[in-house]
Amino acid sequence: MANTLSGKILALALAVATALPVSAAPTAASLFGAEKRASRQAPQPIGTYARGCGAGLVQLPETGPTWQAMRLSRNRNWGQPEMIAFIQRLGAHAAAIGWKGIYVGDISQPRGGPMTSGHASHQIGLDADIWMLPPRRLNLTRAERESLSSISVRSADQRRVNGNYTAAHAALLRAAAMDPAVDRIFVTAPVKIEMCKHATRADRAWLQKIRPLYGHNTHFHVRLKCPPGARSCETQRPTVAELSKGGDGCDETLTWWVTDYLDPPKKAARPAQPAKPQPRKRGAREFTMADLPRECRTVLASD
Ligand SMILES: [Zn+2]
Repeated sequence: MANTLSGKILALALAVATALPVSAAPTAASLFGAEKRASRQAPQPIGTYARGCGAGLVQLPETGPTWQAMRLSRNRNWGQPEMIAFIQRLGAHAAAIGWKGIYVGDISQPRGGPMTSGHASHQIGLDADIWMLPPRRLNLTRAERESLSSISVRSADQRRVNGNYTAAHAALLRAAAMDPAVDRIFVTAPVKIEMCKHATRADRAWLQKIRPLYGHNTHFHVRLKCPPGARSCETQRPTVAELSKGGDGCDETLTWWVTDYLDPPKKAARPAQPAKPQPRKRGAREFTMADLPRECRTVLASD
């Protein structure tokens, strides 16, 4: 049959059909990653920190009196107006404790959303990474902002802070945690352990907001609350008060990070059981638009 004309057409059609990929939906990360500027909409965080997007985000000026945005090539210095205002307040605090200001790492992409590299969160313009490196200068060139690296404040064995950690770090973190707009702050556990040791009995309520997490030894991660009236923004659950059961989190759940987390106790030998296949949890990088709130389509389509 291949010799007949209709046979040739059929063979050709089959070849074309098999060569074409099944039309897979593009990832949300690729769509949001391609956006170069904010949507022309009223500012609004949409969805959750790790599954959402941001309408009407504002660009943090690359350099201000008390800050510089780093890694400008990533174009991730966009946030909700509340975040931009917070960074300005934090920069002023940094100056008050003797630093030149702060180096600001990633906030969000121009329209938020999942990213093709890095963070699972930072999707709605209410997360920002602040470098542990105290700025020496606030006149870094674009090239210097690409090449300069932050410093780690954690020892190589991950159990304590190292000589890079100073009282100024503690003061800056305390100022950040006391800011009413802040929901929680992620730091490497040794930093919180150190802060627990030095906090006085009368001045430690804010410690609840300082949360230990893996990584976070070269930067701390500030997460703001959903701004008042932001109806499409979902507050994180459990709240920090629920997590620390009303306490300050200076307890065994904190010590776990520098003990069992690093040295998991050997499990008692159990009879071998066939492992049940678990469905793999999809990461933010694999999300399609169907995984995000519907309003995110409007954010993407907006001018
Ligand atoms: Zn972060």
